[in-house]
Order: sequence, then structure tokens, then C-alpha cells
Amino acid sequence: MEYLSTRDKTLRKSAAQAIATGLSRDGGLFTPVSFPGISALEVDALCGMSYRRRAAYIMGKFLENFRAEELEEFTRKAYGPEKFDHPAVAPLRKVDGKTWCLELWHGPTSAFKDMALQMLPHLLTASLRETREKKTACILVATSGDTGKAAMEGFADVDQTKILVFYPENGVSEIQKLQMVTQEGGNVGVCAVKGNFDDAQNGVKRIFSDEEMRETLAQRGYFLSSANSINWGRILPQVVYYISAYCDLLKAKEIKLGQPVNFCVPTGNFGNILACYYAKRMGLPVGRLICASNRNDVLTDFIRTGVYDRNRSFHATMSPSMDILISSNLERLLFDMSGKNDELVRSYMEQLAQTGRYEVTPGMKKRIQEVFYGGFCNEEETSATIAEMYKNGYLIDTHTAVAAKVLADYRRESGDNTPAVFVSTASPYKFCDSVLSSIGQVPVENSVDRIEQMADCTGVAAPARLAALKGKAPRFDDVTEKNLMEEKVLQFLK
Ligand SMILES: *Cc1c(COP(=O)(O)O)cnc(C)c1O
Repeated sequence: MEYLSTRDKTLRKSAAQAIATGLSRDGGLFTPVSFPGISALEVDALCGMSYRRRAAYIMGKFLENFRAEELEEFTRKAYGPEKFDHPAVAPLRKVDGKTWCLELWHGPTSAFKDMALQMLPHLLTASLRETREKKTACILVATSGDTGKAAMEGFADVDQTKILVFYPENGVSEIQKLQMVTQEGGNVGVCAVKGNFDDAQNGVKRIFSDEEMRETLAQRGYFLSSANSINWGRILPQVVYYISAYCDLLKAKEIKLGQPVNFCVPTGNFGNILACYYAKRMGLPVGRLICASNRNDVLTDFIRTGVYDRNRSFHATMSPSMDILISSNLERLLFDMSGKNDELVRSYMEQLAQTGRYEVTPGMKKRIQEVFYGGFCNEEETSATIAEMYKNGYLIDTHTAVAAKVLADYRRESGDNTPAVFVSTASPYKFCDSVLSSIGQVPVENSVDRIEQMADCTGVAAPARLAALKGKAPRFDDVTEKNLMEEKVLQFLK
């Protein structure tokens, strides 16, 4: 299977090359040249397998140069019981007769990023072997909270890699910060940036495009790589859980083989929902794809009007991992929906960079609307949804609540009562403050104590690793000015 850049299809790479480099040199994203099919017979056969074996089988279709035993070993390590606290790895929870919730937060950092970031290090090191790369990969991450921790947890003590995470000094939750500064591993580094997430992100982009820096690092035996969802190695493991969820519904006799299922995904960078679209492209019977946003509703408008316009105010919400105005992975959808028209995609991305806006052709808009529905959920509705679900016996986080609400809106508006799965992307214990307030409790002063408070008042057990944060000593206290991040990288890679 070859991978093409969305901005220049003459740039073709193997899977290993695409994963090792992350981003294409022309700024485009690597995308598979075609989608391998998954037949009804295969779906039926997958029903009898564990999540780990399903994952190895599905990923193998995209990774021809990786041996099957190798992939089985990776999935055993990535999704084993020492990493995931649920035997099903990504369990489905029945909410009502036609609705299920896909819980993707049973991994080591309690957010869905683990599903991909527990696998990426294995894919990356195998790719380095395959491409005979001798230098050490230095993974630079700018994070608004979840990605940084999940990436460090995945890459901690992985050979031939080092990882440095920058987070905005006052832009992450206290639990998220504590998760990061207590990270173990000899190859990890964490540094706060005096500024917001955009400052941290711009700093990382600046370092990536700094030729002199790359030269210096190369002399020291390093090259820069990415653990962001622009890397194909982040998207591929996410295709798996949509197919796996379908198998679980089938196995539980909730649906018949071939019957369509709708999925509703809380969306930020468009990586997670894109993986669902790719599962549909492989032939999984997915009906409608429901794209759920918070108050930052740039994607809702895009799906409804065909105009992407980031010129609007940015809202800090209680679902911070979706506070995003530029959804990078939408580029991959545009590439597919335009019939791989790289020139057109390049022109949209140039317009986006220059004016913050582009409008797709009427044909593309129609094709997108045939598959996707876009909706959003404001702060009051998010809280109300958490309260209502809790009354019915299910404690969910703020991001998941956005999805539950938008799915309800979609059903009311369209009258489409197809069986549907909404995706749960974080444990409620990662956002104790907002969840406690939503269910009518006053959060206690200390953020770590809120974990215990929530466990006591709801009777829902907290993930062991979050509970264990109490009393854990920080390892990192580094802070940098936003224009001095280069020096931190050079110190880290001495
Ligand atoms: C990253 C994240 C999202 C958004 O996922 P995308 O792939 O960026 O669309 C949603 N919820 C949580 C909890 C996240 O960490």
C-alpha cells in the first residue's frame, strides 16, 4: 500500500516512510492510495476474535511490509492488561434500545489518545528499522492537555526515541498538568511555555521548519518527528475500534450482518471521525457520520454550508480538547471527496493560510452532506446532558456529553432512528471540576482531592492511575519564554 501527499500526489511513500516522517515535505498529509475492502465474511470472522487480534488483522491490510506476527506482538503489548483496565479494551455500553456508547478511555492516561499512542511507538520503531534510519527520533509535541501525556506514556523508554512536550503554563487542567510533570521514563522531557496553546504550537512548528536546527540536530544524531494526528500512524489504529464496535453489536445480536449503524464523534482536529469515515470507505456498514462540536462550531458551519471560515472568536470551553479552529485532518477528507484533486486541496489550504477561509465546490459539498451531519452543543447543554445521563445511571465526561447531545439533535431533526453509537473520548475523572458541578456538587479546593470526592459521591470507581496521582512528586518544573523554546530543545538533545 502506498501513501500519497494530499498536496502533491506524485509524492508517494511506503507505510514505513509515511509513519517515520509524519508530515510530507510539501506540508501535505500522507493518505492511503486506496482503501482495502472488508467483506461481510471478514466482519463475521472478526467477531470471534479479541480486540488485539482484530487490530492486528485490520492494520495489516494497510501495512503490507509488516509481518502478521510482528503486528500481533505490537497489539499484544499496546492493548494488554498492563495498559488497559478493561478486558474488551474498547467496550460498548448500552444506553437504550437503539443507542450505545463506545468507551475509548480505558488506557493508561484515561483519554482516547491512548488507543493510537500506545500503538504508534511500535509502528514508528518498526518503520525506523524498515527505512534503515540510524538517527534517534525526537518527537516534539505541543499539547493542550491529553496528547502530551498520552504520547509520553507511549514513548517512555522506547529505544531510538526521545520525546519533549510543551504545554501552555496556564492552559491545561491541574490534573492534566500533574499527569505530565510526574511522567516517568529516561527519554522524556516536559516544559511549560509562558503563553497559550497557539504559542506552544507555533513554537514547535517554527522548530520543525528551521533548517539550521535540523542540521545541528542531525550532527548530534537526531531527527524530528511528530506524534500528532497528522501522522498516519495515529489514524490507522483508530480505524480499528469502529470495525470492532460493529462486531460487538453483531456478536450481541443487536444488529444483523450488513445492517447500517450511525456513529457520532466529538470532534476537534477531525482525526477520530476521519478514522470512522475510512472504516466506511473500507465497506463497513456505517450509515451517517455525525460530527459533534462544542461552541467552537467551525465544522458544523462547514458541513452545513460548504464554507470553512476560521475568522471567528475562540471559546475556552469545558471540553478543552475540542477547542480548535483549524481541524488539520479535514484536509484528508477534502482529498478523498475531491477525487484526489491535490491541486484543489493545495489551493484550499493556501486560502486557509492566507485568509482563514475557503469554500468547496457544490459537488464536494453535496458528497460531504450525504455522509456527514454537523451539530454543536453549548456549555449549558453540555452540563445538562451530563446531569441527565447521570440520572439514568451513567457518568460521562464533557466531551462525551457533546456527542450524546448532538446525536439526540440529529435524531430529532432527521427522524433517522438507525442504531447509533456515540463515542466517549475521556474518563469523567479527567474533568472532575466540570462534571461535579454539572451533577450538582461543589468541587473541593484541591484538584486531586476532587477525584476522591467524585468517587465518593457517585460510587463510580476512579481509574487507578488517576487516583494514584495523589501525593506523587513532580519530576519536571521547567518553564520557558515562548521565543526560547529552541534552547530547550537543544538542551534536551545535548
Ligand atoms: C483529542 C480529543 C478529542 C478530539 O479528537 P480529534 O481526533 O482531534 O477530533 C475529543 N475528546 C477528547 C477527550 C480528546 O482528547
